[in-house]
Amino acid sequence: MISPWCAWYERAGGSSLTEGESEQDAKAVSTSKRAPKRLGVSQLLAMIALAALVVFVRWPGPPLPFDTLHPHTQQVLQRLGVEPSRAAQGLGLAPASAGIHGMDGTVNHRPYCAAFDLDISDLTPQQTRALLHRLRGAGLVCWWRVPGVSFPLTTRYGVETGPHIHGVDPFVPHKRRLELQIRDYLTGNNGIEVGRYAHRPDPPAACPQTAAERNLLRRLRRG
Ligand SMILES: [Zn+2]
Repeated sequence: MISPWCAWYERAGGSSLTEGESEQDAKAVSTSKRAPKRLGVSQLLAMIALAALVVFVRWPGPPLPFDTLHPHTQQVLQRLGVEPSRAAQGLGLAPASAGIHGMDGTVNHRPYCAAFDLDISDLTPQQTRALLHRLRGAGLVCWWRVPGVSFPLTTRYGVETGPHIHGVDPFVPHKRRLELQIRDYLTGNNGIEVGRYAHRPDPPAACPQTAAERNLLRRLRRG
């Protein structure tokens, strides 16, 4: 005998306990027959807001190396067609480079470094030479760091080095160590401070700065 209450409950989507059914059976039926819960408008809006948050608001990670350069350096590089992604290091906080790639000052309330490293792993030696001359032609101080040729295979901290272009923008305020690199460049040397490569002209294989490139920088600095 089904009570009116049970009939109503069944019609509403539930299940009633009738003769012959155990309580457990009833529970199983009750679970399988239960209508899916419908989302309320507020729940739906909350989910949309959460999805929008995930898509549009990204947690700010560390700045890209290019973003840690002085706006002047950024402009020169972009004018030369150097993609921002090529900057492998600007303001470097790694102990191996904290000296030379340390902070040189702040601009628009953000720290910058006047030194930069460019990734050249996708360039042929010929393309690297062309890039070096383009950078120097714009007044930037640049060297081709070739491990084992013009640069140590490992840093003094034992970190392996890879081929890259190390550059300095001499036209933005910079630390004394970078000024010494610039002076080394003007005398035809490599700007390396210590070790067996220190203060030497680069070998021809590393495309040393030419006399014309050094004279250009002298003129630009005077002007
Ligand atoms: Zn560097």
